[in-house]
Amino acid sequence: MIKGNLLYEGKAKTVFETDNPNELLVYFKDDATAFNGEKHGTIEGKGVINNKLSEFFFKQLKDRGIKNHFVEKVGEREMLVKKLDMIKLEVVVRNFVAGSLVKRLGLEEGTPLTVPIVEYYYKSDELGDPMLNRWHIMALDLAKIDELNQMEHVALSVNTILRDLLRAKNVDLIDFKLEFGRFDGEVLLADEISPDNCRFWDTVTHEKLDKDRFRQDLGGVVEAYQEMLQRLTL
Ligand code: ADP
Ligand code: UDP
Repeated sequence: MIKGNLLYEGKAKTVFETDNPNELLVYFKDDATAFNGEKHGTIEGKGVINNKLSEFFFKQLKDRGIKNHFVEKVGEREMLVKKLDMIKLEVVVRNFVAGSLVKRLGLEEGTPLTVPIVEYYYKSDELGDPMLNRWHIMALDLAKIDELNQMEHVALSVNTILRDLLRAKNVDLIDFKLEFGRFDGEVLLADEISPDNCRFWDTVTHEKLDKDRFRQDLGGVVEAYQEMLQRLTL
């Protein structure tokens, strides 16, 4: 594999072309942002951990029938993925109340939800990622109805798989965000799965083991990411 031109510099990752037109090289940075880019920082070593954790989750999901973009980990901070035509949506699944849901519904953080909630957000930095429903998605032609149904089904399956994996490690899966893209007429799970885009709480102490430690200035940010890696992979 030969690293090619820079394709896209994101907030947490940089994406490069490769000599294979169907594959991209994703480089995981230590940069962290929150509140729609208002807060910036660096979490030393985060890129290395998120690359490892994403590899772990994508492999576990593939073994359980969830098709995704992961090809192979090729460096400490680099993974090779299938090049997808990305769908401009963030698909969020929630099992417990946290983050924006606390404000929007006035519920207490940590309240368990009787059924998982699926939400869609328009991936648009200019608009601040507004929440959408199925009708908005259809009207904006962001995805077709069958693609939307597929994404929702996969998101809920991912939720069940990750919840079980994490429960065995004494971690509650509070919520998470997924992204999807098209490849050869199929919708595949993409991007990353890490403490940057999931909320993980210790089941017993409710200690936060994710990016909320950065968002809320709780300290011990990289230690929390490290703890997740250790619990899952060691
Ligand atoms: P952001 O764009 O929100 O700043 P990142 O820093 O994580 O996010 O950048 C990674 C970018 O790569 C995102 O825009 C994401 O949608 C995109 N991406 C993730 N997986 C793939 C893929 N398999 N093919 C093409 N683009 C992808
Ligand atoms: N999330 C994300 N990227 C975003 C917004 C949210 O990865 O741009 C994740 C976030 O880490 C959490 C879940 O999606 O696991 C739900 O986030 P929420 O809507 O509560 O927003 P936040 O509190 O992050 O503003």
